[in-house]
Amino acid sequence: MAKPKTLWDRIRQLFAGPPPAVDEEGQARLIAQLQHPDPARRSSAAQALAGFPTDVAGAALAEAVRDRDPKVRAAAADAIRAIAELARVPVTPVMDALQLEPADSPALFALVGALRALGPGEAAERVVAEKCGWGISRASTAKIDDMVALREQMAEFSPDAVRMQPAFDTIAARLGDPDPDVRADVRNSLAGNRYSVRPLWAIYNELLESEPRRAVLAGRVLGHRLNPRGASTVPLNTTITQLGIAIAFMACDCAWCGRKNPNVPVPQRALTLGCQGRRSAEGAAYALPVVCDFCGHEFQVCFEQDPR
Ligand SMILES: [Zn+2]
Repeated sequence: MAKPKTLWDRIRQLFAGPPPAVDEEGQARLIAQLQHPDPARRSSAAQALAGFPTDVAGAALAEAVRDRDPKVRAAAADAIRAIAELARVPVTPVMDALQLEPADSPALFALVGALRALGPGEAAERVVAEKCGWGISRASTAKIDDMVALREQMAEFSPDAVRMQPAFDTIAARLGDPDPDVRADVRNSLAGNRYSVRPLWAIYNELLESEPRRAVLAGRVLGHRLNPRGASTVPLNTTITQLGIAIAFMACDCAWCGRKNPNVPVPQRALTLGCQGRRSAEGAAYALPVVCDFCGHEFQVCFEQDPR
């Protein structure tokens, strides 16, 4: 059994009772299939091992993250993330796999998610940032020029809502930019400017039903203004007192890379309901699309009950 990471994990482990009996035969069959010549069979075996939170499965999956097919590596990494809390998984082979993974591989962020669940999430993020050339110290001149030009648009922000609208639109359009440096910079600029509160609120309020992706991007900036340190929840009262608007915020882990994404705007009742970050909204009673702060993939914050 894995070492509990927090006191809460420990309490949970104590109350969880003995681990459920493992279908040893089924597990052995799946582990054998990790060597099958057909990559589709290897990949589905890795996927199925997510249901086997054992040290044996952990060791086999830590081998499978070196498979020659990236889809198998991704499936193995996702399975590791799923069992990491209960099983012992060797970390070094997974970190080695991340080091070798190409920047455009479908397994890249799955490996980050696995490593985060195993412990060294920040080290994994640094490996990816280096691989992808993220970070201002590695930025090209063209990228820096672009970011400076965006910041210069902030000079247009003023009490004159009509005059500042074009500049606001240019900047807000980049909140979902593929480059995390641009996303973070634009978010910080908007969150730090008081004239942006009104148009961000308008987008959130008016577009939540018709364009939820844009609405949530705008809403998250308001959350960042109130909660820059990313506390897990911000109740409605705080937003009403400080900004005069009614949104609560909560955090959810990215379904792709596991990064905690704070400041997802939700109805107040959602703060007391269970939610889950998933890759699709299928089957959820209520879901909100979120662009991950780190990997930039879109994931869904899914609720089993509609909190509205
Ligand atoms: Zn992510």
